Amino acid sequence: MNNKEFPENMVPLGDKEFPFDCHPGVACFTKCCRNVDLTLYPYDIIRLKINLGIASAEFLRLYTQLHKGENPFFPTVKLRLTEDEEKACPFLQTSGCSVYEDRPSACRTYPLERAVDRSNAQKIPEEYYFLTDHAYCFGHKEDKKFGAKSWIRNQRVSEYNVFNDYWAELDTLFAKNPWKGEGVAGEKQRLSFLVCYNIDGFRQLVEARKILQQFSLEKAQRRRIDADDSELLKFGLEWLKLVLTGKSSLVRK
Ligand code: SF4
Ligand code: SF4
Repeated sequence: MNNKEFPENMVPLGDKEFPFDCHPGVACFTKCCRNVDLTLYPYDIIRLKINLGIASAEFLRLYTQLHKGENPFFPTVKLRLTEDEEKACPFLQTSGCSVYEDRPSACRTYPLERAVDRSNAQKIPEEYYFLTDHAYCFGHKEDKKFGAKSWIRNQRVSEYNVFNDYWAELDTLFAKNPWKGEGVAGEKQRLSFLVCYNIDGFRQLVEARKILQQFSLEKAQRRRIDADDSELLKFGLEWLKLVLTGKSSLVRK
């Protein structure tokens, strides 16, 4: 992908700097947390449900809605806004974001958007950042300056990007209708939903079916999976590739 292949109004930021800051002193503070169309990715859900101290199924029930997104074979999970006329993010409080340390990747990345070029399987995927500029956001009029790299570092987006890249690989697979004869809502799609969005449900399944014991995993990795939902997610996404395509980096015992 080179610059010519992006739509005319989308110019990758490259090394350019942009003025931006967001703090309680800006006149628009928390405006972007209302009427927001926010897609939640698997790692977002893990971070939020841990922050809230609830199980992933509870989180899905209370705070999300399923949508038919661009992928006709797998639902998109969106944040459910409050039903009053504010239509606010449910985590918005007068003082600001109540889940700030664990806010979703879209909230962290803003005002940037990220695109990843995976078209050349022989090359490491390349990432591009684009600057969005909403008229209501006065953050662009602040004096501080950032480049894409320094913004990503400042907002601690990299760990989210790692998981979003794993997820994107699976999402590409889901778009090819890997359910085959089962159709949507069959066993494979249910397993995929469980791994991607309901990590506590997947942990129960892993324990009940002794799934970890079926693979050669180093002791340290096994311990990390037992203790950390994000490590279980990494394992689960590899396991899904195996279930859906028969190919994965996992090695059966
Ligand atoms: S609209 Fe922009 S400056 Fe205002 S709170 Fe949101 S991100 Fe910050
Ligand atoms: S999670 Fe926080 S930053 Fe994101 S929309 Fe909700 S209140 Fe705003």
